[in-house]
Amino acid sequence: MDRSTICFPVTCPCCGQEYLMVSNRNLIVNALATEQRLALSSVCAHHRVMWVANEIERHQIQEYAETLHCRGSRRVRNCCDARMH
Ligand SMILES: [Zn+2]
Repeated sequence: MDRSTICFPVTCPCCGQEYLMVSNRNLIVNALATEQRLALSSVCAHHRVMWVANEIERHQIQEYAETLHCRGSRRVRNCCDARMH
Protein backbone atom coordinates (compact mmCIF):
# COMPACT_ATOMS: atom_id res chain seq x y z
CA MET A 1 0.00 0.00 0.00
CA ASP A 2 1.28 3.40 -0.97
CA ARG A 3 1.36 5.60 2.09
CA SER A 4 3.43 8.41 0.70
CA THR A 5 2.03 11.87 1.05
CA ILE A 6 2.15 14.91 -1.16
CA CYS A 7 1.61 18.53 -0.32
CA PHE A 8 0.36 21.08 -2.79
CA PRO A 9 -0.76 24.68 -2.57
CA VAL A 10 -4.47 25.42 -2.57
CA THR A 11 -6.24 28.73 -2.20
CA CYS A 12 -8.94 29.20 0.42
CA PRO A 13 -12.15 30.14 -1.44
CA CYS A 14 -13.23 32.39 1.41
CA CYS A 15 -10.22 34.64 1.87
CA GLY A 16 -7.89 33.78 -1.01
CA GLN A 17 -5.10 32.80 1.34
CA GLU A 18 -2.75 30.19 -0.08
CA TYR A 19 -1.64 27.31 2.10
CA LEU A 20 -0.28 23.82 1.71
CA MET A 21 -2.61 20.87 1.85
CA VAL A 22 -1.15 17.48 2.71
CA SER A 23 -2.86 14.39 1.40
CA ASN A 24 -2.32 10.76 0.51
CA ARG A 25 -0.54 10.70 -2.84
CA ASN A 26 -2.21 7.53 -4.02
CA LEU A 27 -5.65 8.95 -3.31
CA ILE A 28 -4.92 12.14 -5.21
CA VAL A 29 -3.35 10.41 -8.20
CA ASN A 30 -6.26 7.98 -8.41
CA ALA A 31 -8.83 10.75 -8.31
CA LEU A 32 -7.00 12.66 -11.04
CA ALA A 33 -6.54 9.63 -13.25
CA THR A 34 -10.12 8.38 -13.04
CA GLU A 35 -11.89 11.76 -13.28
CA GLN A 36 -13.34 11.28 -9.83
CA ARG A 37 -14.27 14.26 -7.78
CA LEU A 38 -11.34 15.50 -5.81
CA ALA A 39 -12.36 16.99 -2.48
CA LEU A 40 -10.24 19.79 -1.10
CA SER A 41 -10.52 21.20 2.37
CA SER A 42 -9.42 24.54 3.67
CA VAL A 43 -7.33 24.60 6.81
CA CYS A 44 -6.44 28.26 6.69
CA ALA A 45 -6.36 30.27 9.88
CA HIS A 46 -9.95 31.51 9.59
CA HIS A 47 -12.05 29.02 7.64
CA ARG A 48 -12.96 25.38 7.52
CA VAL A 49 -14.44 24.75 4.08
CA MET A 50 -14.68 21.75 1.81
CA TRP A 51 -15.12 21.97 -1.94
CA VAL A 52 -14.48 19.98 -5.10
CA ALA A 53 -11.42 20.86 -7.13
CA ASN A 54 -12.15 22.55 -10.45
CA GLU A 55 -10.22 21.89 -13.66
CA ILE A 56 -7.58 24.51 -12.93
CA GLU A 57 -6.95 23.16 -9.45
CA ARG A 58 -6.85 19.59 -10.72
CA HIS A 59 -4.25 20.58 -13.29
CA GLN A 60 -2.08 22.31 -10.68
CA ILE A 61 -2.30 19.38 -8.31
CA GLN A 62 -1.47 16.95 -11.08
CA GLU A 63 1.69 18.88 -11.86
CA TYR A 64 2.66 18.75 -8.21
CA ALA A 65 1.95 15.04 -7.97
CA GLU A 66 4.12 14.33 -11.00
CA THR A 67 6.97 16.51 -9.81
CA LEU A 68 7.00 15.16 -6.29
CA HIS A 69 6.74 11.58 -7.48
CA CYS A 70 10.39 11.69 -8.53
CA ARG A 71 11.67 12.93 -5.21
CA GLY A 72 10.21 10.43 -2.77
CA SER A 73 8.10 10.95 0.29
CA ARG A 74 10.89 12.01 2.63
CA ARG A 75 11.79 14.99 0.47
CA VAL A 76 8.13 15.90 0.20
CA ARG A 77 7.79 16.06 3.95
CA ASN A 78 10.88 18.23 4.16
CA CYS A 79 9.46 20.57 1.57
CA CYS A 80 6.29 20.94 3.62
CA ASP A 81 8.23 21.73 6.78
CA ALA A 82 10.41 24.24 5.03
CA ARG A 83 7.51 26.14 3.54
CA MET A 84 5.40 26.23 6.63
CA HIS A 85 8.06 27.76 8.81
ZN1 LIG B 1 -9.77 31.32 4.53
